[in-house]
Amino acid sequence: MTGSVAIKGWCPGARRPMQSGDGLVVRVRPHAGSVPLGALAALADAAARFGNGQIDLTRRANLQLRGVTAETLAPLWSVLASLDLLDDDAEGEAIRNVAVNPLAGLDPTEILDMRPLARALERRLAADAGVRRLPGKFGFLLDGGGRLPLLQLEADIHLVACGDASIAIGLDGPDGLEWLGATAAADADAIAVRLALAILKQSPTGRARALPSEAVAVIRAELGLRPLDRSIANVRQVGSQARGLIAFANGTYAVGLGAVFGRLDSEVTSELAGELARLGIAELRLSPWRTFYAGIVNRADGEHLLAFARGSGFIVDDADPLTRIDACSGVGCCSSTTLATRQHARVLADMAERTGFSGTLHVSGCAKGCARSALADLVFIGDGDHYRVVRQGTVKDGAFAELDPAQIATAGHALLMQEKGAHV
Ligand code: SF4
Repeated sequence: MTGSVAIKGWCPGARRPMQSGDGLVVRVRPHAGSVPLGALAALADAAARFGNGQIDLTRRANLQLRGVTAETLAPLWSVLASLDLLDDDAEGEAIRNVAVNPLAGLDPTEILDMRPLARALERRLAADAGVRRLPGKFGFLLDGGGRLPLLQLEADIHLVACGDASIAIGLDGPDGLEWLGATAAADADAIAVRLALAILKQSPTGRARALPSEAVAVIRAELGLRPLDRSIANVRQVGSQARGLIAFANGTYAVGLGAVFGRLDSEVTSELAGELARLGIAELRLSPWRTFYAGIVNRADGEHLLAFARGSGFIVDDADPLTRIDACSGVGCCSSTTLATRQHARVLADMAERTGFSGTLHVSGCAKGCARSALADLVFIGDGDHYRVVRQGTVKDGAFAELDPAQIATAGHALLMQEKGAHV
C-alpha cells in the first residue's frame, strides 16, 4: 500500500488520520454499522500491532485505532483494505457518514431493515464526484424504526421508514428537522444524493443547518416528493432498554454492551471476538451511544455473553452511572491537558451512585469539549491544573465553581450533593 500520508489536526479518517497526544488516530468506518466477527478480531490484532492497543467507539458509530505511527500506518492500511474497510481516497471516505439503527434486521418491531439502503447510498456516494465537495461532517441518518431509534444523532439528511416500503425524507434545517415528503425505498438513495447536492448548492457552509429558510422551500419543490401520509413520531419507540439482555416478542434476543467512555483495549476486544465466535455470532453492531450489539438466538447464550461482558468491564445496565458521564481521553492521549479526565470521571461516577445524583456529567480536559457537545447537568472543564465547573451547560458556558482534582473526594462530593436535589 503506497501513497502520501495526509496528517491533519481535524476530521480523522483512515486515509487522513488525526495527530493526537498518543500518536495518530485512525478512524475506521464500518459499512452499515456492522463489523463482521473476522474483522473485529483482525482490528483488535491491528490495534496492538500498529497502534497502542486502544480502540474508541465514537459518537458516530465508528471505530478509532489510537497510537498509530507514520511507520505503521501503511501496514495498517493493508489490513484495512483486506477487510473492505479502506476507502480509495480521503475525500470519498470523509463523506461516507451513513448511520443505521444498531438493531437493523434483528429487531422484529422495526418497520424496515435499512442496511440495504445504507449500502446502496454508500455505493452512490462513492460513484458521484459532485458529493466530494460536501463538508466532512455532513451526515446521513437511516432509521428503520423499532426499539432503538437514532433520535439523538445529528445528521444533515434523515431517511426514516414510514411503512409500505416508503421512506420519509427530511433535513436538519435552520428551524430544526423538516420533512420534505416520502418516496419509495428503492428510490431513496438517489433522492438522498440529489438532496445533498441541493444543500451543497444552496447553503453557505454546505450544511443543512445553514440553509436560508427560503432555500428549504426551493429544495422541497425541486425534489417533488409525495406528501407524508402519517406522522413520523408515531412510529418510534422512545426510552427502550439499550443495554443488557434485550428480549424480543418473537423469542429472539440482542445483547447491548456499553464501552466505558467509548474505549476498549485490544485484549478485551479480542476476547469479545472469541466469545462471540464460540456462540456462533457472525457480527457486532455499533451505535452512536457507544454500545455494541449482538443478535442472540436463545436466552442462555445471552446470559453467558452478559456474564463475560460484566467481568470484562462493559456496561450492561442502563442504570449504571457510567452511562450518564462523558469524559475525553485526557492526559497521555491528548497534549491539550495535564488532567487524568477518565480517572476523575470514574471517581465522580462512583460518587453519583453513592449520593443518588441522577444527572449527566461531562469531564473535559480543556475547553474544546471533544467528548460531548450536548448540554450536561454538570460540566468539568480542564483549565491548567484544575477544573472550572458549569451547571446545565456546555464547555462554552460560564463557570460557577472551581474544582481541584486533588479534592474530588471532598469538594466533588459536596458539589454532587448540592446538585442532587435538581435531578433525583
Ligand atoms: S477536550 Fe481538550 S483535552 Fe480533551 S481530548 Fe479534546 S482537545 Fe484533548
